[in-house]
Amino acid sequence: MSLITGRDAVLAQYRAAAAHGWTLPCFGTENLTTSEACLAAAQELAEQRGWERIPLILALTITYAHRPQAVLYSHSRRWDTGLRLALADIQVLTRPDGPYPRVDCMLHLDHAQHDSDRALLEDWDLSPFSSVMYDASTLPFAENCAATARFVARRGREIVVEGACDEIIDAGGSEDSPLSSVGQAEAFARTGVDLMVANLGTEHRASAATLRYHGDLARAISRVVGPRLVLHGASSVAAEQVLGLFRDGVVKCNVWTALERDSSPALLAELARHAGKAAGVSAKGLREAGVLGPASAVDERAALSHCTTAARQHIIYDGMRAIASRYLAQWYLASAAQVA
Ligand SMILES: [Zn+2]
Repeated sequence: MSLITGRDAVLAQYRAAAAHGWTLPCFGTENLTTSEACLAAAQELAEQRGWERIPLILALTITYAHRPQAVLYSHSRRWDTGLRLALADIQVLTRPDGPYPRVDCMLHLDHAQHDSDRALLEDWDLSPFSSVMYDASTLPFAENCAATARFVARRGREIVVEGACDEIIDAGGSEDSPLSSVGQAEAFARTGVDLMVANLGTEHRASAATLRYHGDLARAISRVVGPRLVLHGASSVAAEQVLGLFRDGVVKCNVWTALERDSSPALLAELARHAGKAAGVSAKGLREAGVLGPASAVDERAALSHCTTAARQHIIYDGMRAIASRYLAQWYLASAAQVA
């Protein structure tokens, strides 16, 4: 199968994952390199384990202020252009005769904003996508519930809808971010959303030593609303903290920051080591300015192996693929073993 779309087919993927004790991994992407790294990691795991099929969710935000990924997808910085390109890339990559034939890929529209993404949410044909997060969490709670319920009533028969019970706040500010309560989650569930983001202690940021994922709260909420929780901000806590997610009623877990944050150092190191190949004679100027140290090969001649976009992207691709592989192993092997 190629890209999984249509409400029934997508919900069937969630049911199949639950039968395995799997929390579905949802990787954020804002370029072809990231999408392909995640697809390759999934294809590889399926081949290694002898699985015919493996599910994988790719996601991008639209105009979400924290990270407008459809805007960033294209240098035109137009969200509609970026979104169409991302969809086309993933449709091509997931063709049955393409390079990742074992992957049942779903494309999720993440953090679609009730106000700035209104054109998408109201006017676009959503059938090429697998699910959408309707995010009205910046509104007061009662208004969030009302707006989300209206969206579910309008489009919930077409597409799987994720709602945001609480806002997941941004990196490091002084904002107060109270955890979701069971009562609030119960009220939010009445909107009719299929999936629900609750504040379980994580944040949208790279890392923070003080943050803790509250599995006990997730279990208390899912006892009341059923197993339909989505965890955002998984990069903000240590990987060991999010091992037993399925047991806590978390059916989907979003990761993006770690892919970018942890693949970047290898690129910097490779370019610094081979500064001449990457930058030609400019490398010597960087040495003289004290930017590059003695181990940097500034005398090498410029080479396509280092001075091209393809070369740089491939270093990032390798890093992202390794990171995605670790997450997939965590959720498809280790977590499932814990649940079993
Ligand atoms: Zn998020």
